[in-house]
Amino acid sequence: MTPPDKNLVEEHQQLVEEVLQAYPEKARKKRTKHLNVHEEGKSDCGVKSNIKSLPGVMTARGCAYAGSKGVVWGPVKDMIHISHGPVGCGYWSWSGRRNYYVGVTGVDSFGTMHFTSDFQERDIVFGGDKKLVKIINEIEELFPLNNGVSIQSECPIGLIGDDIEAVAKKTSKEIGKPVIPLRCEGFRGVSQSLGHHIANDAIRDWVFPKYDEAKKNNSLDFEPGPYDVALIGDYNIGGDAWSSRMLLEEIGLRVVAQWSGDSAIL
Ligand code: SF4
Repeated sequence: MTPPDKNLVEEHQQLVEEVLQAYPEKARKKRTKHLNVHEEGKSDCGVKSNIKSLPGVMTARGCAYAGSKGVVWGPVKDMIHISHGPVGCGYWSWSGRRNYYVGVTGVDSFGTMHFTSDFQERDIVFGGDKKLVKIINEIEELFPLNNGVSIQSECPIGLIGDDIEAVAKKTSKEIGKPVIPLRCEGFRGVSQSLGHHIANDAIRDWVFPKYDEAKKNNSLDFEPGPYDVALIGDYNIGGDAWSSRMLLEEIGLRVVAQWSGDSAIL
């Protein structure tokens, strides 16, 4: 085994020091635990990673918001997903993922577009509910072929306690389409994985009841068959869901649903 190059280790440690100097004291103390230089031969790099994300302190991985917006809801192409909070959080989820879809962007599909409530200090102080209602109405006017809206909460929303559920119920009635509120603020978990759970729970709580209701009223336009399958959990990154679908169809199955890559809510 090659002995560790001491100069290189020291050089890297100095780089870490320089990076840390850019933080305010309190943040620096916390951030120090996340940065270290790996020394060859040592099994532990000393980096703490399995701890909750801190609002505003960039994590080395995606946060819960990124998991909900970027992975589960973002690929639902016919809905508009609002990154609710400061514009910067959207960096994690905007166009960084190659979620392929069939449709006309800005007309009936919105996967590569980014919508944000662009929170400012004023919204933190007075709350952002009114702004959110306004945005949803504007979306309806500008993109009438959207089939629903999701509200993807970023950290400040949970910190100031905005009632996005009430906004969702009110606006859903007004526009006659699903409006799904997501409590996926980044600080809720240690990684984006919790965002996946929160997003899927919202599907159970806000989408499935609509299906049950339609079934009860006999207004469901769907005839089940003996070879039906639902393709769940592929968000069509680089076209994967399309390949899986083709294989399933080639062996004689009928793919009746695809979630959430290249999928539609209605
Ligand atoms: S939601 Fe929170 S943790 Fe995620 S990017 Fe925004 S501020 Fe950071």
